[in-house]
Amino acid sequence: MDWREILKTNVTHAGELEDIMHLNGEHEQEVERILERFPMSVPRYYLSLIDWNNPKDPIRRMCIPSLEENDMTGKFDTSGEAENTRLPGLQHKYGETALILSTHRCAMYCRHCFRKRLVGISEEETADNFEKAADYIREHKEISNVLISGGDALLNSNEALEHFLDVLSSMEQLDFLRIGTRTPVTFPFRITLDPELVELLKRYDRKKKIYVVTQFNHSAEITEESEKAVRMLLDAGISVKNQTVLLRGVNDDPDVLGGLLKGLTAIGVIPYYIFQCRPVSGVGTHFQVPILKGAEIVERAKQMQNGFGKGFKYVMSHRTGKIEILGAWEDGRMLFKYHQAKYDADRGRIFAVKLGENQTWLPDGLCGAGEV
Ligand code: SF4
Repeated sequence: MDWREILKTNVTHAGELEDIMHLNGEHEQEVERILERFPMSVPRYYLSLIDWNNPKDPIRRMCIPSLEENDMTGKFDTSGEAENTRLPGLQHKYGETALILSTHRCAMYCRHCFRKRLVGISEEETADNFEKAADYIREHKEISNVLISGGDALLNSNEALEHFLDVLSSMEQLDFLRIGTRTPVTFPFRITLDPELVELLKRYDRKKKIYVVTQFNHSAEITEESEKAVRMLLDAGISVKNQTVLLRGVNDDPDVLGGLLKGLTAIGVIPYYIFQCRPVSGVGTHFQVPILKGAEIVERAKQMQNGFGKGFKYVMSHRTGKIEILGAWEDGRMLFKYHQAKYDADRGRIFAVKLGENQTWLPDGLCGAGEV
């Protein structure tokens, strides 16, 4: 069966959840109101991973709208995406990396998404002219890698992907390409039912190294089907890396997070980053974990890993750069280090901040030498 046909069976309306969630009329209307702002689309496969007897089921939390999404505290662009946009759909924040927003579509609209402002809603921020984006990259020789993202990069057709890969793989200045997709987790059929896609990636990987970057957040997402998708990518020579988001009520427990990291390493997916959830409107207040607590959870989860599983960094994508959260210093202050910096003066800079117990983010003015 064609993966596009399967996606058409996604659950997109509150009414479809009525039976399984036992929504009453009033609750259903409230959920519908949330969906006017933030759409829902859940593949039947992902829905089947939910234990409906558990109202706190972590999979449910990531895909089913919650009334907490009405809290608009925070902002929609927390890491300066607008100010780093050079052309529609092309961001250039760190010298060596270009980011292409190739589509606004995803197989599933994650409730915790930091691009909630656009996924499933608007094409305004996606690349409308890939040739111009390619010209920009060619003119900026400092760019040595490109991340094709979105939305979900694998929601593009094979033809569109081939065009991107064809153009980018012929640029000598690039060392490698990354494809950002959550399909191995939320909709593995995009890979398992499309050998043509895997062949395509394999072919271009021979020209330019391709890394697939995905996002497993809980070990319940590691299933026979997702493992099969990962295996097909690995067999084709594609490296698969994982970026987990630390999410309250999903993986904010050392055993849960540690179990996930172990499970990933066991199927050949290398944990790469653990992201501090961003203070995004409709997301932050119910998904963020305080940094002090997060650092403790991550450290304990790390201690459960072997060397491979310990290679990841716990980071926040801040407006001033990707900041690694190192851990608490003996005087109680938290140590941070710029892993990637927007401003040259911040490159590799280590700094300490006395955090509040419930503090979940660093204010723009508190860090960033470029600000001073
Ligand atoms: S797949 Fe990625 S981009 Fe799409 S909604 Fe989920 S987190 Fe956001």
